[in-house]
Amino acid sequence: MHDVDFAADLVASSTFCVALTGAGISTESGIPDFRGPQGVWTKDPDAARLSNIQAYVSDPEVRRRAWQLRLEHPAWTAQPNEGHLALAEMQKLGVVSMLVTQNIDGLHLAAGSPPDNTVEIHGTIVEVACLSCGDRGPMATALDRVRAGKHDPPCLLCGGLLKSATVSFGQNLDPSDVERSTAAAVSCDVFVAVGTSLTVYPVAELPSLAIDSGASLIVINAEPTPFDDRAETVIRAPAGRTLSAIAKKVRPVRSG
Ligand code: NAD
Repeated sequence: MHDVDFAADLVASSTFCVALTGAGISTESGIPDFRGPQGVWTKDPDAARLSNIQAYVSDPEVRRRAWQLRLEHPAWTAQPNEGHLALAEMQKLGVVSMLVTQNIDGLHLAAGSPPDNTVEIHGTIVEVACLSCGDRGPMATALDRVRAGKHDPPCLLCGGLLKSATVSFGQNLDPSDVERSTAAAVSCDVFVAVGTSLTVYPVAELPSLAIDSGASLIVINAEPTPFDDRAETVIRAPAGRTLSAIAKKVRPVRSG
């Protein structure tokens, strides 16, 4: 049986399916990943420093560069692709019960993924958060201030450092997001990991939790991952067309 058919059968017959996505689902929308062959860090290892909270807090030059990169971020023009749309459809059909994304680009919500069963576990670039008082606001407003000449716009409430509302290396994940994701992983019978190198912890513990609780793992990724030998099936193909093919096979089984 073809891998995609096998994966679609697993998903269609699941009672609680969890999907975990990473940067690889958004490369087909024009947003580069970090560690793939065309990844931001593969091409420029120094860029990793911009994702480190200690460097951000201590070095004004890192913050200036981070704001410039936010101005040019491909997320502002990117559109959800067939992979995001397929997952949103499977969530609405009740086939995918929980979607956990490591992505900060907002494309799952833009594709129509229901917010109630979508966890953006590494936060979102569409908002900013103050590192001192925690106040949040729209990224668009902060970027207007950068365009108007503020290289490192401070929090309007307390003057603290502002940053995109994303989780940098060295920052803690939101405990309620971790709780929802962990609860889903230990409860599911099928866990689908898509477009992720499965190397960023603690998120990369989720497939282990799922497998140890008896779930079948499906890996859809362009390159090998550390979990491939524990997977029921590994599909080494583009995320968009693979998810779209799975949704097409699942649709008649689960929509009526
Ligand atoms: P990663 O860069 O470590 O791995 C991405 C994986 O996806 C790679 O193994 C690559 O081979 C694979 N891939 C790339 N394009 C693919 C495609 N079209 N189909 C199938 N597979 C494809 O990404 P990660 O595991 O998500 O971890 C990196 C961290 O960086 C995460 O925390 C994430 O939040 C962040 N990040 C997010 C974005 C985004 O929001 N779009 C982009 C870059 C990085």
